[in-house]
Amino acid sequence: MGIGEIRGDEQTATLLDAELWRLSDAQLIAGVPAVTAQIHLLQALRVGLVGEMTDRGVVPDRVHPSLKNWLAAHPVGLLSEGEAARIVDLARVLRAQPEVAAAYESGALRGELALAIAAFCEDPPPRMPQERVPEYRKVLIEHTSHGGLGIQGLRRALTKLRDDYGQIPPAEDTDRNEFCASQTLNGRVVIKGDVDSETGEMLLTALSKLSAPVPGPGGEPDPRPAALRRADAFIEMLRRFHDCGAGPVEGGEKPHLTVLVNINDLHHCDGDGDGDGEGGCECGCGGEAGQGGKGEAAGHSSGSGGGRSGHGPGSGSGSAGGLGPQMMWTGPLSRASTRRLACDCIITPIIINNDGVPLKLGRKDRLVPASLRRALIVRDRCCAFPGCGRPAAWTDAHHIVHWADGGETDLSNTVLLCRYHHRLIHDSEWEVFIGPDLLPWFRPPGSRDPDRKPLPAHGRTAA
Ligand SMILES: [Zn+2]
Ligand SMILES: [Zn+2]
Repeated sequence: MGIGEIRGDEQTATLLDAELWRLSDAQLIAGVPAVTAQIHLLQALRVGLVGEMTDRGVVPDRVHPSLKNWLAAHPVGLLSEGEAARIVDLARVLRAQPEVAAAYESGALRGELALAIAAFCEDPPPRMPQERVPEYRKVLIEHTSHGGLGIQGLRRALTKLRDDYGQIPPAEDTDRNEFCASQTLNGRVVIKGDVDSETGEMLLTALSKLSAPVPGPGGEPDPRPAALRRADAFIEMLRRFHDCGAGPVEGGEKPHLTVLVNINDLHHCDGDGDGDGEGGCECGCGGEAGQGGKGEAAGHSSGSGGGRSGHGPGSGSGSAGGLGPQMMWTGPLSRASTRRLACDCIITPIIINNDGVPLKLGRKDRLVPASLRRALIVRDRCCAFPGCGRPAAWTDAHHIVHWADGGETDLSNTVLLCRYHHRLIHDSEWEVFIGPDLLPWFRPPGSRDPDRKPLPAHGRTAA
């Protein structure tokens, strides 16, 4: 097979011009494998061209820092960065491994198998005698060609070979580990990593345990897509680390993150999603009650005293203090999130007045002491949200009336909620209250039940 064959393949040339609905069944059956073979040949040709560029040191333009970046951008959108990287890697290793290249170009070997074999032979275990390498290469090509061993089988074989010669396989080499967390322009944080198989196993096991779907109160399926459930699971892992980690923990206090927050930003001006639009915002941001519950604290901008002014959405015209809630690493935080986090002090808010001066706020005003947490565990036993029941260790103590609005930190004003339902209570029209039976009750949003008939807490009945 070769480039000549691509030109000479009349079958695919005919198909390119054909009106597909006119083709016979036999033509379809013969056409698909012929196209697959041609695609492979064209891919091999592309790898050959890239290899030639690499050898000659061709620099396609000055805009793209590497051949990989250039490849991913030309033509734009057809190759991901990962695919482009694999093409460049394959092109490079095949130059040094003509036997593997021949098997790949002939169509006997898929690209991923060729890459794995060539990479192994290029960098064999140090204790493997050099003269054995061609032998192993031949055997590996034979066993993987024409639909032999798949990629998993090949990996097993390579792992065993490395093991036999006393080398740590790449999958288990922790020196190759990388983990990056970088902030984007809009304030989010992008996470990227490459870890060894054991770490990956720990991560996947933890994510799988923590990301199980949570059915709704009526048994309806969890509305979160899988990626969101995995993200929630990751958040839960971090939270548990902070709960039992190196930070000072006393009496149930959980001071994890530090947030600089104006006392006015904690007052009840975020609407809490109740949509009743009562009055104007008390904090002087110019916003109105009942509209900011799920949104950004748009009226608040980071002022000149913020120290991290690069993160602020603007400057000057914010709240009287000139500084909306600010986190130490990632900058501004919406008032809605600040209230939820401050509920059980997963953050340590440093409360400041309008002049930016820290105020003394009694610990008893906001922290849930260990004795109260124990009493809450006896009463609620788990996340109290109907149908949830996540274990108490996963829960926050939610203040029904926020402490910043004068709510007491006691049994009559707190309820255990897992992080998911804590967020739901703060950001939606779900409400919680303590009934005459001294137990939590949950009032669903009008969209779910027009009568908003309260539902008993998880594991309780409406008796
Ligand atoms: Zn809360
Ligand atoms: Zn829950």
